[in-house]
Amino acid sequence: MKKEDYPIYLDYSATTPIDPSVSSVIESHYRNTYGNASSIHSYGRIAKVILEESREIIAGSIGAEPSEIFFTAGGTESDNHALIGTAFAQRRKYGKDHIIVSSVEHHAVLDSAKYLMSHGFRVTHITVDEHGIIYTANIEEQINDKTALVSVMHANNETGVLQPIREIAKLVKKNRTVFHSDTVQTIGKIPVKVDELGMDLLAISAHKIYGPKGIGAIYIRKGTDIDALLHGGSQERNNRAGTENIPLIAGFAKAIELAQRGQEELFHHVEKLRSLLKEIIQNTVRDVIFNSTEEHSIPHILNVSLDSSTYIIESESLLLNMDLKGVAVSSGSACTSGSVQPSHVLLAMGRDPKTTQ
Ligand code: PLP
Repeated sequence: MKKEDYPIYLDYSATTPIDPSVSSVIESHYRNTYGNASSIHSYGRIAKVILEESREIIAGSIGAEPSEIFFTAGGTESDNHALIGTAFAQRRKYGKDHIIVSSVEHHAVLDSAKYLMSHGFRVTHITVDEHGIIYTANIEEQINDKTALVSVMHANNETGVLQPIREIAKLVKKNRTVFHSDTVQTIGKIPVKVDELGMDLLAISAHKIYGPKGIGAIYIRKGTDIDALLHGGSQERNNRAGTENIPLIAGFAKAIELAQRGQEELFHHVEKLRSLLKEIIQNTVRDVIFNSTEEHSIPHILNVSLDSSTYIIESESLLLNMDLKGVAVSSGSACTSGSVQPSHVLLAMGRDPKTTQ
């Protein structure tokens, strides 16, 4: 299917097209930088330089040290590593066997938590209010000296709702445990500085910011106890075995650089676009529900429901009809669209299951 078949692509939170200057960096490295970054000959050393330069760029963008950035295959792996790696390390070292996650997390977090449950960990899901904002007081009630990790995403991928990360980080720190935040939807869109926000771990993905798919990173604050998920080589300072994909890593760094340039102007531009789109929808479709408030969400995501008392329509058929008209949108997260289940995010916000579909 050609790009022209989708004159209106509105699914940037699922994935973005690749920026041409990112793809030319990738192509050039695929052709020229084929050495293994672990080899000691000149081909390997050249690859190693690109690897470390890219790490510096990504670290700099979030105010971290390069030694705190570890490349992964994307947001999913970073979330899995954060939860599973921390939980096992904390249980082995300190006997901690309790995890707290928000109920609106991406499935990369929720399903990692489920996996941990099958390995004897206790998991507490913290719910959100009608605006999708987590009850920090509930974390305070549930956190205890057995808590190995708290995971709360920065902005939700379905609604764009931002969580009070600073407040949660302070609470987690006070309780001497580890704080992970999935920042896949905020990196490159709004400033994310690890010391200002206070997270110990965060997940990044390149393909949400005009970078390549299949590459991302995990930030691990120095001194955090965490096990590796992949074993078999000493790459990434024993934290992630496997030959590094230099072309994708260089493309990822290029995408981060581009995203940081003019970030503020772009943010305001997207804010205006969101207002315009809301206005058009409000003026043309009756009984619509906007599922996030402007002051508590990033403007890049607009989540709209059709009231089930007026409309009897399944989201899948609506999406297919919009597709036929040349408009590409998603119902819920990319990893769950295709299923007819109501969105777990909207359900957590107390929406009617029929309206969320
Ligand atoms: N976390 C969030 C919030 C996401 O939106 C996504 C992507 O859909 C992921 C994690 C997974 O990232 P990736 O597709 O790079 O594995």
